[in-house]
This record gives sequence, C-alpha cells and structure tokens, in this order.
Amino acid sequence: MSVEQSSGETARGAARWAAARTRLLHQIAADTAETASWTGRPALAARVMRAIACVPREAFVAPSDGDVAYDNRPLGIGCGQTISQPFIVALMSDLLDLAPGERVLEIGTGCGYQSAVLAELGAAVFSVERVPELAEAARQRLRRLGYERVHVRHGDGFDGWPQEAPFDGIIVTAAPEELPPALPPQLATGGRLVIPIGPRGDNQMLWRCVKQADGTLEMRRMLPVAFVPMLAEPSPSR
Ligand code: SAH
Repeated sequence: MSVEQSSGETARGAARWAAARTRLLHQIAADTAETASWTGRPALAARVMRAIACVPREAFVAPSDGDVAYDNRPLGIGCGQTISQPFIVALMSDLLDLAPGERVLEIGTGCGYQSAVLAELGAAVFSVERVPELAEAARQRLRRLGYERVHVRHGDGFDGWPQEAPFDGIIVTAAPEELPPALPPQLATGGRLVIPIGPRGDNQMLWRCVKQADGTLEMRRMLPVAFVPMLAEPSPSR
C-alpha cells in the first residue's frame, strides 16, 4: 500500500469516528433532556460534553466492536464486565461537579473509559479495580493514550484508597447493595459521591451525596440505573 493510500484511509477512519462521536453527543444531550425531571439537570456542562468528545472510545472496546463503539449503550469488555453506557458516564461525570485539579476516587476501573473522561476534565484520578487482568489492561491502555494523571490499582473498592484520601469526588461504577462504610470518611468536606445502590440483577438508584461540614452526607436520588454488581468476594485467580 502506498503512503498516500494509507494516509487517505487514516483520514477516512478519523472522519468516521468524528461523525460517530458527534452523533453520540446529540444522543447524550437528548437523554439528558429526557431525564431532567429526575436529575434536575436539563443539560450537561459544556466541559463534560467536550471531555466526552475528546476520548477515543474506540480504543476502549474490543477491536471487533469498533463499529458499535459510539453506540449509546454498554458493551462487553471481557471478564464478564462492561464498559458503561456513554450517557451514564457523562451524567455521572457531570454530577461530580469537578473543578480542574481536583482529586477523584473511582471504584471499578473496567476498561478505563470513565477514568479517561475524568482526566479530560482535569482531575487527578485514583481508580481501583477488583479484577487484576482488567486493572493491568486499563493501566497499559491509559498510559498508551497519554492519560498520565490516572492511577490504577488492583484492589477491593469496598476499602476505597485511604492512602490517597481525602478526595473531592468519589464515583462508584459498580452497584453495591448498601453504601460501603469506608467511602464517606475518604471524602473531603463539600466533596461529592456519585453511586448506584441496590439489589443485584435489578435496577438500582443512582445517588448524588454531598459531604457536609458536620461529616454527614446529604443524599439525593438521581435516576434508576442498571449496573453490574460491586462484588466483595476476592476475584478468582486464573
Ligand atoms: N468504569 C467502567 C465501568 C466498569 S464496569 C467504564 O468506564 O466503563 C464495573 C467494574 O467494577 C468492573 O470492571 C468490575 O470488575 C469492577 N468491580 C466490581 N466490584 C468491585 C470491587 N469490589 N472493587 C473494585 N472494582 C469492582
């Protein structure tokens, strides 16, 4: 293949991803408007939309899923886990109300897509993943893509990451049945916790919690959601 041919194909590929990304942003805006009676947010912050537009989602899915990378739905990433629906990633990022330079704890790195979106918002991201293979793959992928402010650790998210606390935001991307008690103490005063809570295999409620000066959490219901369960048992070794 000549150099001209291959650069022509690269340009066509880039144009295809750009078109798919624009379509996705429209769908996220429509979903946001549709769910505003729940969330109280008729539109997401422009910087959150820009962050979604910047992250190459095709780099986070299996190569065979390239054609559907920008569909507004979850996709399988191996080890029985999923990459979350882009609208939910965008909404949860918005609900964190992050200022650049703030520190965020993420529970459930998965493929690292949500971590990359948070990094595009200027946050320093500390992400914990229970499945060692996923943690290692996400670490390598994020490094390859240049996300140097994302730190990935293999561990149990029920413990949080106390050595790096306090955090300005905590985002949990797997659903526990109850609020994990170790997490609120790792949140700074004024910090935001965004978390789905509810039974396995059913819908859960997405909550936005804000840590008050007296140490209590003000908790608001945001939206019914469907997440994979947050598991307490150790991950099976392979
Ligand atoms: N944030 C991801 C979504 C990952 S799906 C994204 O951007 O697409 C949820 C992830 O949570 C899975 O990878 C699962 O292995 C992980 N998980 C489940 N229970 C966990 C726990 N106790 N601690 C840390 N990670 C956990």
